[in-house]
Amino acid sequence: MHELSLCQAIAGVVKPYADGRHVDVVRVTIGALRQVVPDSLSFCWMLVRDYEDMPDAELELEFVNAEVSCRSCGHQSTIDSRWSLLCPHCESADVEVLHGNEFLVTSLEVS
Ligand SMILES: [Zn+2]
Repeated sequence: MHELSLCQAIAGVVKPYADGRHVDVVRVTIGALRQVVPDSLSFCWMLVRDYEDMPDAELELEFVNAEVSCRSCGHQSTIDSRWSLLCPHCESADVEVLHGNEFLVTSLEVS
């Protein structure tokens, strides 16, 4: 249950910031390489938010595509596949990952 530990990590970031205030919305940016299943993450969030006493906190997800810079051919490309990180131009595996590993709480709305 990879998603459950991610939700616990989100709650761990949110709680100290909220500092007792009511949390309305939590915005999270997630890179494609995190291999998160959105439905599963939303489901786990419902469990975690109740447990953490933030019953109305809505989770808004923003996904970031994986992007690599190829050391073999020099191209910078967006990767559509979630499972492979080969350069789409030359199929080299010698790539530097520029985006896709993000996992960030980007903003909170409290009241
Ligand atoms: Zn390449």
